[in-house]
Amino acid sequence: MTTTLEQQQSEVLNPFEIAVRQFNIAADHLGLDAGTRKVLANPRRSLIVSIPVRMDDGRTEVFEGYRVQHNIARGPAKGGIRYHPGVTLDEVKALASWMTWKCAVVNIPFGGGKGGVICDPSKMSAGELERMSRRYFSELIQMVGPEKDIPAPDVNTNPQVMAWFMDTYSMTIGHTALGVVTGKPLSVGGSLGRVEATARGVLFTTLEAMKRTNMPIAGATIAIQGFGNVGSNAAKLFHEAGAKVIAVSDVHGAIANKNGIDVPKLLEYVGRERRVTGFSGAEAMSSDALLELECDVLIPAALENQITLRNVERIRAKIVAEAANGPTTPDADVILRDRGILVIPDVLCNAGGVTVSYFEWVQGLYSFFWDESMINQQLEKIMVKAYHDVHDSAQKYKVDLRTGAQILAVGRVAEASAIRGLFP
Ligand code: NAD
Repeated sequence: MTTTLEQQQSEVLNPFEIAVRQFNIAADHLGLDAGTRKVLANPRRSLIVSIPVRMDDGRTEVFEGYRVQHNIARGPAKGGIRYHPGVTLDEVKALASWMTWKCAVVNIPFGGGKGGVICDPSKMSAGELERMSRRYFSELIQMVGPEKDIPAPDVNTNPQVMAWFMDTYSMTIGHTALGVVTGKPLSVGGSLGRVEATARGVLFTTLEAMKRTNMPIAGATIAIQGFGNVGSNAAKLFHEAGAKVIAVSDVHGAIANKNGIDVPKLLEYVGRERRVTGFSGAEAMSSDALLELECDVLIPAALENQITLRNVERIRAKIVAEAANGPTTPDADVILRDRGILVIPDVLCNAGGVTVSYFEWVQGLYSFFWDESMINQQLEKIMVKAYHDVHDSAQKYKVDLRTGAQILAVGRVAEASAIRGLFP
């Protein structure tokens, strides 16, 4: 099937519209009634805040931020906070709903939430970032809490930002509350294994997919878009597992080496230069071309809407492992499926992060911390079971893995909502 220019230009790219479309497909399979659909499709609560910040030059800048709780039927809201110039309320709403489905797919007792601030951290000093982070979190103070809503890192936020959030909350309530955010530094209640957790989950789910398609990991060729927390750790873990990372990219550009990139050297280089471009062990290539490389596994680990009607017919990977949230549009999804390309959907593939965040939250509440092997073992158990559950759901309903995952998740959340009943 060839898509026309008109189809490409009219493709829906609004993330929340995409999330609702995916939800409706599952709701149709489950035969959900109209009332339940309305409750589950829409966010429970959305907050828009203005964040005034004193900049280093004395000016006052006002940033706009959001926090959305999509659903809390199965437990407190859980989901990261993103700093990016492209953040919109609809993006945050979509990301929050994907969190609801993700927590249900891996069957951990959380609902879904997400936050974001429209800003460009690459143009801000550490002091400006700290002041913005603390003021943003103080604006969320009524909404967040260890039993209410527990943020975590996402694009352009990191353990340091989580420490500022935790401290802001703790100073306000008068005592230290470790459980209010996850992804914290180890010195303030972080969990071993959290930094690599999302990428480790990507590896575990990809290994399951490879087993089912008789593809060995040794020598498997991997291309990775995005080299932040998730992408760089995926490169490290796939390399350690014996795969050959043949291309990586970040916001500055892409590099490739068909014989395999020396990942430890690249990590050292990126640690110094803060970019993948210019690394001497690979050649420069265009970022678009990376997505279209012939490879065994393509790992989009940057932002939404990367595989769309514009490029889907040129994707030549055998497996797409969605480390990012929402990297494939629904229209492109259909074409990938028809072309026999296996997509491990985001709500399954990248759920390792929220799973170890759950472990971190539990450890913080108990003030009793596990060793890393225990964390990685428990993570593997949960990810492998989730892969099997999603696979079985897809077989049962004769659908692809994304729809199988969505049916599994929406079914679990609908069941929790029904048994709780409608308040009042
Ligand atoms: P990050 O900020 O650490 O890294 C993002 C990376 O993407 C950076 O290397 C950046 O340069 C790159 N990038 C941005 N735009 C790009 C483009 N157009 N082309 C190529 N590279 C580009 O963020 P992260 O935490 O690694 O998150 C990446 C994705 O994974 C997001 O979709 C996020 O929602 C998802 N995710 C993250 C976690 C987590 O634990 N951090 C968990 C689940 C899902």
